[in-house]
Amino acid sequence: MNILNLLYPDRCPLCDTARPVKETGVCPECAKKLITIKGPVCEKCGRPVTKEGEICYECIAEDFSFDGGRSVFTYSSVSDSIYRLKYMNRSAYARTYGKLLAKEAGDWLEWIKPDALVPVPLHKKRLIKRGYNQAKELADAISGEVGIPVADYLVRRSKNTVPQKLVDKKGRQINMKKAFIVEENVVSFKRIVLIDDIFTTGSTIDSLSRVLKDAGVKEVYFLTISRAGV
Ligand SMILES: [Zn+2]
Ligand SMILES: [Zn+2]
Repeated sequence: MNILNLLYPDRCPLCDTARPVKETGVCPECAKKLITIKGPVCEKCGRPVTKEGEICYECIAEDFSFDGGRSVFTYSSVSDSIYRLKYMNRSAYARTYGKLLAKEAGDWLEWIKPDALVPVPLHKKRLIKRGYNQAKELADAISGEVGIPVADYLVRRSKNTVPQKLVDKKGRQINMKKAFIVEENVVSFKRIVLIDDIFTTGSTIDSLSRVLKDAGVKEVYFLTISRAGV
C-alpha cells in the first residue's frame, strides 16, 4: 500500500468524495450519472446528428481545419467536474478521465492510428498560476492506457488568450490568430490527435490544427472529455 494513497485518496471526479482505500475512479453512486454521447455524431466535430455519416450545419458553415474528433461525455453530466479539474486543483481527476476516454474512444483511436497525442498547451503564465495543464495530465493518462506517445513539446501557446466563450465569433478569430507556435519539425507526424478537456466553440482546436497542418502534419483529430451543446 502506497502511503500517498492514504494521505491523498483518489476522489470520484463527479461528487469529489474521497474513495475508500484501494478503490479509484467514479464511485458506484455516480457511475449512472455519467452519460456517454450515444448515437450518430457529425463525422467532423462529434456533435450528435440524426443519421450516420452526416456533417453538421456548423461544420458546413465553418470549414474547420481539423479532420475529425470525438467527445465522450455529455456536458451536463461532467461540467461541474471539469470546472474542478481546471480551476480547483483536482488534476488527479485526469487519471480517471484518461482511463474512461481510453475505454470509450479506444476503438476510434485504434482506427485513427495517431503517431502522437498532443495536449492543447496552456500559456506559460497560466501554467505557472494553475500549476498543471489538465490537457497534459489527461493526455498522459490516455497514453498510459493505449500506448500512443504524448508529444507536448511540438507546440507552444504564444498568447495568453481571453477565454473563447467570453468573445463573439469575430473576436474569437482575432483572439486565436498566432496563438500557437510550432517549435519542432513535425513533418514526420502523419496523424495527430489533440487532447483537451472540452470542445467549446471549436476555435482553439481549429487554430492549433491549422498551425500543425501548415507546418506539415497530414491529419489532425481531437479527443475531449466533453463538448458544449450536448
Ligand atoms: Zn461520486
Ligand atoms: Zn460538425
